[in-house]
Amino acid sequence: MHVTDHLAKARGPLYSFEIVPPPRGRSIKDIIDVVEKLQPLEPPWIDVTSHSSSAHYREKHDGSIERKTFRKRPGTLGICGIIQNRFRIDTVAHILCLGFSREETEDALIEMNFLGIHNALALRGDAPNYQKPTRKDRTENQYACDLVQQISDMKGGKFLEDLEGSQPLDYCVGIAGYPEKHFEAASLKVDIQNLKKKVDAGAQYIVTQMFYDNDKYFRYVEACRAAGITVPIIPGLKILRSAGQLKTLPKAFHIDLPDALVDEVHENPTHAAEIGKRWTLKQCEELLNKGVPALHYYVLNDSDHVVDVVKKLKK
Ligand code: FAD
Repeated sequence: MHVTDHLAKARGPLYSFEIVPPPRGRSIKDIIDVVEKLQPLEPPWIDVTSHSSSAHYREKHDGSIERKTFRKRPGTLGICGIIQNRFRIDTVAHILCLGFSREETEDALIEMNFLGIHNALALRGDAPNYQKPTRKDRTENQYACDLVQQISDMKGGKFLEDLEGSQPLDYCVGIAGYPEKHFEAASLKVDIQNLKKKVDAGAQYIVTQMFYDNDKYFRYVEACRAAGITVPIIPGLKILRSAGQLKTLPKAFHIDLPDALVDEVHENPTHAAEIGKRWTLKQCEELLNKGVPALHYYVLNDSDHVVDVVKKLKK
């Protein structure tokens, strides 16, 4: 089922999750264990991130977030296929512009369709520090709006070259939004104008970057609506796990942390995980009270805290 169908048919709040493929050479078992823990929460869908030959985020044992730009985590589509077939949970495959040619993207989208994966989150990604040799006969999507357009073309049966008897393919397309502005954008207004380009190219819903101050999300939704963006805007949430993340989260994701959260963790750093869970729980309760369509959790590969929070919300 499409993400938008889940949203349309929901009778209560939806809880979705985002997981990261294991590093190259590691077993798939870790990811299966995470999905087994998430399954009882009845997620309507699970997102699986994608990584070019560079950018990836790692949550270390001490909870700090490390951003590395050279190690590849392959397997996004394979993991989506396993989750859908083994757990009967719909998946959203993240598809990137940077690091992939449009031809490779077309191949990946065809493969998704064959595997029965009909949801894609279209993202630009961040510039790889490893540059593939450029081939003159291949092109790259520059911005996520270009990728959304490529997917919309395929939904209309239009491929990179004219193919006799080509069939329209079936995808629901999501995109990323930034309540605190994308770090490269000159202003939030400009960023929202660029967000609108993605929606105009065919994006059907938005998932936000993580935020720790709900007012920023509410103001962002208001500004998007004023700019003529009508698609659902799903809040993205990440539970703070350690005192170290007070530094690594803002650095890796270009977000601000509220003074009250920072002060509480500084006063009691050994209880950072408990404080983080309580903070997110409070955020979720307010978001649900204000009628958000769904809550999306950045799990990375640590599901225990997320499971605790969602279990409390579902009581
Ligand atoms: P875009 O929408 O292309 O925007 C990038 C910048 O360019 C913005 O500043 C925007 O204002 C500007 N811009 C956009 N369109 C135009 C235009 N037409 N003309 C001029 N300027 C323009 N990264 C990964 O590597 N893998 C993942 O799986 C992944 N998943 C993510 C999931 C979510 C929900 C989020 C919020 C982020 C994710 N990211 C992931 C990170 C993301 O790739 C980066 O934040 C990246 O820097 C921007 O991606 P985007 O799709 O928002 O880019």
